[in-house]
Amino acid sequence: MVLIMTTLYLDALQNEESSIAVAASLLKDGHVVALPTETVYGLAAVISNDDAIRSIFVAKGRPADNPLIVHVARASDVATVAVVSPLAQQLMDALFPGPLTLVLPKHPNVSDLVTAGLSTVAVRMPDLLLTRKIIHAAGAPLAAPSANRSGSPSPTTAQHVLEDLDGRIAAVVDAGPCREGLESTVVRVFEDHVVLLRPGACTREAIERVAQVRLTDAHDHSNVQHSPGTRYRHYAPNARVVIAFSKADAQREVGNDPSHMLLLAPADLDIGVPWRPLSGASVYAELRRADSLHVDKIIVHCDEQIQANEALLNRLRKAAEPRTDD
Ligand code: AMP
Ligand code: MG
Repeated sequence: MVLIMTTLYLDALQNEESSIAVAASLLKDGHVVALPTETVYGLAAVISNDDAIRSIFVAKGRPADNPLIVHVARASDVATVAVVSPLAQQLMDALFPGPLTLVLPKHPNVSDLVTAGLSTVAVRMPDLLLTRKIIHAAGAPLAAPSANRSGSPSPTTAQHVLEDLDGRIAAVVDAGPCREGLESTVVRVFEDHVVLLRPGACTREAIERVAQVRLTDAHDHSNVQHSPGTRYRHYAPNARVVIAFSKADAQREVGNDPSHMLLLAPADLDIGVPWRPLSGASVYAELRRADSLHVDKIIVHCDEQIQANEALLNRLRKAAEPRTDD
């Protein structure tokens, strides 16, 4: 498959209507297009075109056994790709649109390429209106994983998308930085309970309180199919990431030679290392920025507030996992 192509840059902040029209027409023609959402930028293709779906995996270098999330413009469209139980409907009524992905039994129409052969499909309705307008104009639900090369931090700006995928995809739609900056929460919906597969931008509290459902963790259920994606090393920059739970830990990580180090923390700890602020919305941008500065070691200070942010702590821990690929 030829990967060298000119990637069209569509500025939706300046020209929203034409960006939507061009993106939708490329998608209808079977191309892959990177789109903004409230979570991270996604790499989209219409779910009915198997060749377009294959192009997503090729462009990202994504393993074929890691399924994609299907994005819909309207909650009523979920029934075209999945079997919607009363509990799934309750979650959709309370939390769609938003950064919540439901894993449901799949509709027979959905290609095995999208679901990696699983009997379930992951579905989400993005909160960003622009994303929904593009899905609507494309005329079909869109499969879209994050628009990064597999293994690198998820993109939260159009610039990040181009750093990873320029020349490998048909177009990128720019709507500025993503509001959440962390991926969606993924849950498996059963008859009478819901299992958390991946923490994300929709909090555990919102699911339990707003949707009035009981949420349990995947590791409490030996029979629940985990998200295949959680097996892979993710969200990682080139620099080594170490987590410090206290100032003393952070100081110890600095040692005698603070050169080529960066402190990512809610507030500066004055430990002789350049500091950048840490938040869910900016964490991926900071990890990428550290790489562009050729930082060797990123010390991440997780205070109590950061530790209470389940999704952010999960991504930081993954970024800090030892490399297996080098
Ligand atoms: P990404 O879109 O790159 O953030 O990744 C989507 C996440 O959803 C990955 O961790 C996938 O493994 C997971 N996922 C997608 N479809 C399913 C499914 N049918 N069952 C379980 N997890 C899924
Ligand atoms: Mg991803």
